[in-house]
Amino acid sequence: MATNPDELSTKLSAFSQHHCPESYLIMVVDDISQNLHLLDQILNTAGYNTTFCTDGQQALERLQFTQPDLILLDLMMPDLSGIDVCRAIRAHPEQNELPIIFITASNEREHLLEAFEQGANDYVTKPVHALELLARVKTHLSLRQSQKNLRVAYQQLEQLAMLDPLTEVANRRALTNAAETEFKRAERYGGIFAVMMVDLDYFKVVNDTYGHQTGDECLKLIAQTLKAYLRDVDHVGRFGGEEFMVILPETNIDQALVLGERLRHQVAHLCPKINQRLVNLSISIGISVYHKADKSVQDILQRADKALYQAKSAGRNRVCPLVS
Ligand code: GH3
Ligand code: MG
Ligand code: MG
Repeated sequence: MATNPDELSTKLSAFSQHHCPESYLIMVVDDISQNLHLLDQILNTAGYNTTFCTDGQQALERLQFTQPDLILLDLMMPDLSGIDVCRAIRAHPEQNELPIIFITASNEREHLLEAFEQGANDYVTKPVHALELLARVKTHLSLRQSQKNLRVAYQQLEQLAMLDPLTEVANRRALTNAAETEFKRAERYGGIFAVMMVDLDYFKVVNDTYGHQTGDECLKLIAQTLKAYLRDVDHVGRFGGEEFMVILPETNIDQALVLGERLRHQVAHLCPKINQRLVNLSISIGISVYHKADKSVQDILQRADKALYQAKSAGRNRVCPLVS
């Protein structure tokens, strides 16, 4: 490890393109202060933030309130060895993916297999070669960053897959999942829940009269109106076309009827001005509730559909329940 700091920083300027060492914290654990000093010099010259521990116990304690991005861990230390520390870190769900690079003497190689078995990501041998160490640190930081980015992208995709792109409320898939969950909960714990099928009245006429774009604006407005009148625990989504579905946990038929009436009344009085023209809107609502005899969530949805059909037949702009 004979690279002098000036030489090192010149080599590093090319090395650290698009990589910001200043944004990372590296924890270094070694019982020999001379080693700590050396690693500190290498890491600081490259721009990394560092935190040091002189034994395994101290490292584990510090990890309870600091979140380093990577650990350089001496393999052989008195009391808690590097392998013990590694095992303890990996047992912690939040630190499961923290990159750990072991620092080993060449005569300790026989322990490396165990280190990898306990979750080590990599190792460097003493005497430490500065550029090699930094290359490995950078590689593992980048890998971890890619992992994090992938997870965020995956979560965003998952959310998108559950959203209706036009109205930005839940889509049919999300609604079906929510209804299944409510059904299982009601079955297991003897609970109740209500389902509303909400359909816009004469929406074809709205499209034909004002154009499809205005129709789309109306759908967005209805989605927002429904959402505004529901609790956080309720689910509202677009079941398809101009039909919405609402799932109301812990709600009986009387409570659902009161809410349905309120929603119907609210929409009937919206009379939005879209593209300079006033649009009359109304909804019909079919309501059903969970019943112990129901075999699946489909039974409840079918009753809600039937109730909706009755609301339409009875003249639209109304709420109909169907209990059994
Ligand atoms: P009813 O009162 O019997 O429900 O009559 P309706 O006209 O609402 O029902 P119908 O099923 O005859 O027509 C549904 C209309 O909804 C026709 C279709 O173009 C419109 N629609 C479905 N999805 C969309 C959409 O995403 N945007 C727009 N603008 N219109 C849509
Ligand atoms: Mg309709
Ligand atoms: Mg319809």
